[in-house]
Amino acid sequence: MMYQRMKDIFEKVYGESEGVRVFFAPGRVNLIGEHTDYNGGHVFPCALTLGTYAAVRERDDGLIRMYSENVTGGLVVERESGDYKIYNRKLWSNYPYGVIWALDEQGKKLNCGYDIAYYGNIPGGAGLSSSASIEVLTAYMFNELCGFGLSLTDMALLCQYSENNYNRMNCGIMDQFASAMGRENMAIFLDTATLEYEYAPIELTDKVILIINSNVKHSLGSSKYNERRMESEAAFNSLKEELDIRTLGDLDEAEFDKYQHLIKDPVERKRAKHAVYENRRTINAYNALKRGDIEEFGRLMLESHMSLRDDYQVSCKEIDRIVELGMNCDGVYGIRITGGGFGGCCVSIVDEDKKDDIISYIGSEYRKSVGYDADFYTVLAGGGPAEVKG
Ligand code: ADP
Ligand code: MG
Repeated sequence: MMYQRMKDIFEKVYGESEGVRVFFAPGRVNLIGEHTDYNGGHVFPCALTLGTYAAVRERDDGLIRMYSENVTGGLVVERESGDYKIYNRKLWSNYPYGVIWALDEQGKKLNCGYDIAYYGNIPGGAGLSSSASIEVLTAYMFNELCGFGLSLTDMALLCQYSENNYNRMNCGIMDQFASAMGRENMAIFLDTATLEYEYAPIELTDKVILIINSNVKHSLGSSKYNERRMESEAAFNSLKEELDIRTLGDLDEAEFDKYQHLIKDPVERKRAKHAVYENRRTINAYNALKRGDIEEFGRLMLESHMSLRDDYQVSCKEIDRIVELGMNCDGVYGIRITGGGFGGCCVSIVDEDKKDDIISYIGSEYRKSVGYDADFYTVLAGGGPAEVKG
């Protein structure tokens, strides 16, 4: 189905579609472990069955043409292969083009030119990592087409490198790692300090993962995100003067409580508290899921939200309203903001048979509070990047 759909889009844009190949890479939702991935802590995301697709075909010359069905009035962006100048910071194609740039930096040159058509079925800018999805897709696709021999971990690191250095978005490794390493019905418990990871089955049986999009775009996101990174780093540096630690993730709650006075700035102290406690919550949540204890998992999700709201201060009133409404509902085990913050989505675990009531209650109350709708998606943990066959 998606193969045909992508072939049709390709044909619409480039005239005909003989011999195209279609590739996919997923978006992700982070169940718990937020703003820990650049603080040396753990994260616990899963890849989604939603993500980004590309139809691609070689050209005889060195031209790289890109089109996205998601960009309104979408024109074809055209570049000579090897031209890595950034013409416009805001252009969406900087994401996939940055990956080509990063490949080139590693001496991995494309074989020829390409025509590419992208389409994503993941809401953009909502904290479900459409950016990592289009990056990992691009890396995977060229790895297949040009035989670069990169591992999935290599691809995740390459995509993070390109987002950091080409797009100048100082993201951690979680998004790209989750997209590249996705596995059906599994969440990924990742230690971001070492990149050691384990899969944990999400056996929710009569429960589902429900994502609620506040439809508040995280436009403040990138500047505030960088500010949080600097505050955390400053707090870490204050602790490091006395303690032998590599990252905030090295501390447990008791150690943090004992030494927190070393951080003089009260704001920086709160940021560090979140990073330390959130890391420990994530480890506990992983263990709870392994035991099948969804009640405990949900409780930790809620604690995570409170900490992101009060200590890390990356929530917003619309998201807090959704969490508050969710907490009023029978059948909601846990609910929290997910993604970078300042808008975007909440993730929750809910009873499947109460899902419709929950959606209708939160939906109508949210509309009353803010004057516009939230969107709801029930999602499944999906696999990593792959070629899609016809
Ligand atoms: P998130 O990763 O949470 O969805 P970001 O702001 O990090 O939000 O990334 C969103 C950006 O990624 C979009 O503004 C766009 O530039 C790019 N992008 C992602 N998917 C697509 C797509 N299918 N087509 C075009 N651009 C895309
Ligand atoms: Mg992103």
